[in-house]
Amino acid sequence: MKKTIAMLPGDGIGKEVMQGAQEVLTVIAEQFGHEFIFTSGLIGGSAIDQRGIPLPPETLELCRNADALMLGAVGGPKWDGEPPENRPERGLLALRKELGLYANIRPVKAYECLTDHSPFKKSVLDGVDFVIVRELTGGLYFGKPSERSGKGGAESAVDTLFYTKEEVRRILTAAFEMAASRRNKVTSVDKANVLESSRMWRETAEEVKAGYPDVELEHMLVDNAAMQLIKNPAQFDVLVTENMFGDILSDEASVLTGSLGMLPSSSLSLNGLHLYEPVHGSAPDIAGENKANPLAMILSAAMMLRTSFGMEEEANAVERAVQLVLDAGKRTGDLAFENDHPLTTDEMIAEIKEGL
Ligand code: ATP
Ligand code: MG
Repeated sequence: MKKTIAMLPGDGIGKEVMQGAQEVLTVIAEQFGHEFIFTSGLIGGSAIDQRGIPLPPETLELCRNADALMLGAVGGPKWDGEPPENRPERGLLALRKELGLYANIRPVKAYECLTDHSPFKKSVLDGVDFVIVRELTGGLYFGKPSERSGKGGAESAVDTLFYTKEEVRRILTAAFEMAASRRNKVTSVDKANVLESSRMWRETAEEVKAGYPDVELEHMLVDNAAMQLIKNPAQFDVLVTENMFGDILSDEASVLTGSLGMLPSSSLSLNGLHLYEPVHGSAPDIAGENKANPLAMILSAAMMLRTSFGMEEEANAVERAVQLVLDAGKRTGDLAFENDHPLTTDEMIAEIKEGL
């Protein structure tokens, strides 16, 4: 198959880990007889440096012409002085909005060989393998009004949690589709005892469920979900929730696996052009030091192969290589203990390619 992949490395360790994804994809293309064309665009701080804005129109154009998008990370202290509307993060928010990337999918899997790195007991981590589906383009982060008022904006402030029924339906549908291909269980997280938007969410979940007789639907209040995620995380298969609840719960869940450097994600649109990125950020504290763990980015590439291109075998090959290398005890610094000799980013990339 011939596929064009837009690579947006962004800032900080984004550049270093993107290199790993590209090298791994190049080997996969050779092994399986595909042709991957990599195009590259500026986003975030590096776009501000070179073009004055965090999402230049040519980057958007490049994305629209691709079959799938890969993003490293955006941001860093260098751009702290930029006005709010020109921050690196704005580039990513604008990209999500422009491309209709409404569903953020974050698999959370506890690797058996990494459980020593988790602050949780082995018995809690046993069988942890779930997916968080977070709504990404609505809710409190985008609702209007969002403003301050009173003397110079000092006296009151408002944000608005707004959803249309259709927005809620499409994210719940994404969750049921996902559950149908997994263990057939959806946990819908809301605050229906307090919020009107949550009551609409709950009703919509029941309506969508009617189309999936084999999938079990459970409703859970967000405060309880926050507790259950650390008390008994193995109970979950697919957890679906609105934008801000999802933001908070997915960071909470990431702690289960031991390192941010292990977690991939995808952001899905309705038109088939999806984006894949690691859950971690630009990690300014280690940027440029060849220390970053490239596995979250490489596992994001595997998600792309499977979801965007239907390349199941190819995706499995990448995931197998990651498992193989971890099982052999090879680790980057974020997963190494004090006395170990951690691999550099480049060395880890080489190990994965070797394992393919
Ligand atoms: P940003 O604002 O871009 O999110 P941040 O300062 O919040 O930047 P993160 O990237 O979120 O930094 O990382 C949080 C911590 O986890 C940092 O100490 C970072 O070094 C570490 N970390 C994140 N990703 C990785 C990785 N891939 N490999 C190793 N360490 C990582
Ligand atoms: Mg961060």
